[in-house]
Amino acid sequence: MKKLMAANWKMYKTREEAAMTIAALMLAVGMPPADREVLVFPPFTAIECVSAGIGDADGYAVGGQDVYPAAEGAFTGEISPAMLKDAGATWALTGHSERRHVLGESDELVGRKTAFALEQGLHVVLCIGETLQEREAGQLAAVLARQLETGLAGVPKDVAVANLAIAYEPVWAIGTGKVAGPAEILDAHATVRRQLQQLLATGSELRILYGGSVKPENTAEIISLDNVDGVLVGGASLQAESFSRIVLA
Ligand code: PEP
Repeated sequence: MKKLMAANWKMYKTREEAAMTIAALMLAVGMPPADREVLVFPPFTAIECVSAGIGDADGYAVGGQDVYPAAEGAFTGEISPAMLKDAGATWALTGHSERRHVLGESDELVGRKTAFALEQGLHVVLCIGETLQEREAGQLAAVLARQLETGLAGVPKDVAVANLAIAYEPVWAIGTGKVAGPAEILDAHATVRRQLQQLLATGSELRILYGGSVKPENTAEIISLDNVDGVLVGGASLQAESFSRIVLA
């Protein structure tokens, strides 16, 4: 599988800014290296223009930062898989730590979102990760197991490897400038791999991304580690100049 180099633009960028950033990124990267795939999660309002900017270029895709587990209905403020697809998205992000911890999403809701988005034909990056308090209390493996078991509860055991990726993002490393060290990343990714193997028939092959203060300077080391099959990048993905260096690292 190709390494998945994913950008999470969070609640940043107007449509014009998004169009300029994707154009600059594509100019800087060109056709991504054969072993890399670029995925951008803009805010919902900019999905359509990022999709238009990508056009039919190989190696690039766009996704929604969240998705609601219903086809349509009285769910004010939410967005359905069909709406994301209509805007040009082929991926959705579920369970990002900002949604879990700022907006109070439960493991169970994240699981329903993941299963429904896959069922409706979107590819999904499911985010998991422990808080500093959980890590310090020795609960890393238990937290990851709980988030994976509930997050994948409705996912077919033979889910296609191209359709689902897991992003391990320690909450204490997101947007803080504190990157997990190689030993911490190796240990957490090996734990996630073992747990995926127990939960899914395709668990040995699913891509596991690392996220948390990834920068151009630390990407090459991180993606060379065992069981690291890509990165999910917030802050350093907002500028084409830095994200292009991450993609090419
Ligand atoms: C993220 O938003 O998923 C993330 C990892 O953010 P940052 O790279 O800014 O830590």
